[in-house]
Amino acid sequence: MAGYNHLYIPGPTNVPEEVRMAMNVCMQDMRAPDFPDFTKPLFQKVQKVFKNTTGRVFLYPSSGTGAWEAAIQNTLSPGDKVLMSRFGQFSHLWVDMAQRLGLDVEVIDCEWGEGVPVEKYAARLKADTAHEIKAVFATHNETATGVTSDIKGVRGALDAANHPALLMVDGVSSIGSIEFDQDAWGVDCAVSGSQKGFMLPAGLGILSVSKWALEAHKHAEYPRTFFSFEDMIANNDNGYFPYTPATQLLKGLDKSCDMILAEGIENIWARHNRLATGVRAAVDAWGLKLCAKEAKWHSDTVSAILVPEGMDARKVISRAYEAYNTSLGSGLSKVMGKVFRIGHLGWMNEGMVMTALSIAEMSMIDCGMDIKAGSGTGAAITHFTQNQIKSSAIAAE
Ligand SMILES: *Cc1c(COP(=O)(O)O)cnc(C)c1O
Repeated sequence: MAGYNHLYIPGPTNVPEEVRMAMNVCMQDMRAPDFPDFTKPLFQKVQKVFKNTTGRVFLYPSSGTGAWEAAIQNTLSPGDKVLMSRFGQFSHLWVDMAQRLGLDVEVIDCEWGEGVPVEKYAARLKADTAHEIKAVFATHNETATGVTSDIKGVRGALDAANHPALLMVDGVSSIGSIEFDQDAWGVDCAVSGSQKGFMLPAGLGILSVSKWALEAHKHAEYPRTFFSFEDMIANNDNGYFPYTPATQLLKGLDKSCDMILAEGIENIWARHNRLATGVRAAVDAWGLKLCAKEAKWHSDTVSAILVPEGMDARKVISRAYEAYNTSLGSGLSKVMGKVFRIGHLGWMNEGMVMTALSIAEMSMIDCGMDIKAGSGTGAAITHFTQNQIKSSAIAAE
């Protein structure tokens, strides 16, 4: 098909040209004497994106799922009691991993469309005076349902109970895009991957840990090899890796961190909020609802849009792909056929969001849904024109 294909899935996200070009280099010797000149500053840059000033980061040649596993194996022991919650496909999968690795998982099940049950966590932690719970897990941004949870609130619950449990956060679809502050929120293990907010292809598991996680590591009894902190630290401290690193991806990561830090992390959060609010204005104007049940849970990186009962969302997704060369996100597991998703994270701007909304609108109309042409897109235009970032030309007037 002529023209670009349009990618609006919530990962992999669009890769900026600058990042793509930064990866287009000859293969390098990862044991070369000057390799640490590249890697040591890179570790520092990645830590900045997490707002982690006291701990360190680990860059694994894996996907985000590997960083989930690394966090568990390096800080906990088989049979440890942990508190988790489940309200979407990704929080479900992390629970499943914890169970399969032999943790004693206490799961709080919530409806899909809700977020981390902070009050229930608070009550549970307060009741645990013997401190049996060794870690509390929270999925910051549930990508399947477009729900963002209150991680600061979870830290508040731990502190209110004076509870020493580690705080483990899945930030795969939030970090680098929406507010995340590892230091301020006391996050011990912050998990991410390369193909979402970091605007890279898949292939890196990115784990940022606090000094307390490094302390817990000393007593953690899981056997581990590939994800071992010890092996990583021994080599990373000299700028090297215990096995072949994904050097091209590291080159790309270096560039994407430069772009993130140059735009300013707070500016990036504001951009994602502005773009997401435009998408939500469109959803309202279409007369549709988000899967996220309350405004406090609205995600600024992905919107899961419910289609009316009796309609199959997969038809809209197929239509967008076949007729308009556009990938919208599908509904996963329990919400399959009920939602289509628009990923609006990473290398994204108003024009790209307008394309997504136009194509979603056309596809819904093509599928016979009762949607007025120009309704959602019009509402988004109104939002964007009334909430502009002042360009230098406008500012100068
Ligand atoms: C994408 C995603 C993952 C899984 O990451 P992979 O890189 O596919 O292993 C985990 N959690 C969340 C919230 C995600 O969005």
